[in-house]
Amino acid sequence: MRAMVLDKPRKPLQLRDVEKPGPAKGQLLVRIATCAVCRTDLHVVDGELPDPKLPLIPGHQIVGRVEEIGEEVNSKFKVGDRVGIPWLGWTDGECAYCRSNRENLCDRGRFTGYTIDGGYAEFTVADARFCFRLPERYDDVEVAPLLCAGLIGYRSYRKTGDAHRLGIYGLGNAGHLIAQIALYEGRDLFVFTRPGDLAAQQAAKKLGAAWAGGSDEMPPDKLDAAIIFASVGPLVPAALHVLAKGGIVVCGGIHMSDISSFPYADLWEERVITSVANLTRRDGEDFFAIAPRVPVKTKTETFLLEQANTALDRFRAGALQGTAVLTMAE
Ligand SMILES: [Zn+2]
Ligand SMILES: [Zn+2]
Repeated sequence: MRAMVLDKPRKPLQLRDVEKPGPAKGQLLVRIATCAVCRTDLHVVDGELPDPKLPLIPGHQIVGRVEEIGEEVNSKFKVGDRVGIPWLGWTDGECAYCRSNRENLCDRGRFTGYTIDGGYAEFTVADARFCFRLPERYDDVEVAPLLCAGLIGYRSYRKTGDAHRLGIYGLGNAGHLIAQIALYEGRDLFVFTRPGDLAAQQAAKKLGAAWAGGSDEMPPDKLDAAIIFASVGPLVPAALHVLAKGGIVVCGGIHMSDISSFPYADLWEERVITSVANLTRRDGEDFFAIAPRVPVKTKTETFLLEQANTALDRFRAGALQGTAVLTMAE
């Protein structure tokens, strides 16, 4: 099968003919239709995340159809079913985290397109227990970005509890999806963009934000919560500074530059800073239940599999108009 392979971080992916995998016990063999490109793929390719499997097939927002079913797969899927394969690829099910409904923190967790091969290929195998059924209203391209930007964004959003005035830093892939859910649930939305990015601020207002401005500006009200979807550490103290008492800052990314120091007064009065790591299967089920009701809409730009390096380069340069989605059509 054809695959785009990372031999070494900071090198372009190579188009290769590699052996098509076979499903082991508990796995599905999936013929891939699309795979959306996540910022985490960039962090892996650019060597910002430690110890990836090498050589590696990246990609963890995979949409495809079941081609073959391994031994001991329960009857949830049959050949031909459409499935989604997310970042969380495997957990041990027995560590203290798994046993307390926090499988996202599993001591031995394995991650698609990072520590196991992912979806920049024509086929992949995946543990059936971690695959999702996808809402029918979305086609294979539209639904792909929901598998990470949507899921992990949703986990970040849930951490804000019932915050009424919600700030979002960065209206990229995840921010754009979560903003739609927040508005659907009646939150007042405050969107922070790069200073001076008037186009992004206008887009936020068009989406329904109560206010949009630069990350160096003060919103008209103190916020109950803020989610940071940009990988820029100095946004953490900036967000903390605009919170009301008891407010929470949620860092929604897997990688961020260093956080500068800030006065204790900004944390005082029970303000909280937290991060979100990975996802649980429960997050996926909850998100795929609410997404079609909103309905959450994705913006995508498609690339052929062999154009993965172009998609990554354009993502790195901030030159994409939507989430890059690789399609496997010949
Ligand atoms: Zn575990
Ligand atoms: Zn991701």
